[in-house]
Amino acid sequence: MRVAVTGTPGTGKTTATTALADRFDAIVEAGTSTAAAIVDGEATVDELTEDDICHLNDLIESESLYTDVDEDRDSVIADMDALESVVDDRAPVVVDSHLAHHLPADRVVVLRCEPNELARRLRERGEVAEKAHENAESEALDVILAEAVESHGMESVYEIDTTERTPDDVADRIVDVLTGEREPSAGTVDFVGYLQ
Ligand code: ADP
Ligand code: MG
Repeated sequence: MRVAVTGTPGTGKTTATTALADRFDAIVEAGTSTAAAIVDGEATVDELTEDDICHLNDLIESESLYTDVDEDRDSVIADMDALESVVDDRAPVVVDSHLAHHLPADRVVVLRCEPNELARRLRERGEVAEKAHENAESEALDVILAEAVESHGMESVYEIDTTERTPDDVADRIVDVLTGEREPSAGTVDFVGYLQ
């Protein structure tokens, strides 16, 4: 079982999937029945640890899994083939990255965020205004959602609006995707007003 957690930069993927690691621990400690079996998978949520979560963007940097460096954008062009084989080797259950939906996955979580709030979050993280604006526009246009649906089909996509949710709240919803307690969804938000 692999769950991709994707979304426009700034939607809170890394923050929510980091909170998810704490959820795994909390579930184990509480010994509750929330630790339902992952549908069609071998692991149950209570067997998962931090190591089952892969923050792909960190991996791209630490293992130099890129083909080019984009100086203007202060970013790299990921080597998707190399990335795919490294991820296959490590076999994480959760893959966090705005590129995660480009890799094979059983379920794809697409985190969403209202564009003005998204730009605020990116500025808070230290990104320049231009990059924040570019990503806000891309979020308003549903770019990543559309890519995820095109690659994986509506039945595998789970949209989660993070705009007014805490990272813990978002992590809880990702747990529901892992355990099969959440129904697939796409097109539940409408941020197109941002473009007008
Ligand atoms: P991503 O990994 O999707 O690019 P990050 O997890 O790095 O996004 O979060 C981007 C910024 O938004 C960070 O400054 C983070 O503290 C903030 N943030 C993340 N999730 C939330 C949330 N649910 N509510 C408010 N701020 C958030
Ligand atoms: Mg991130």
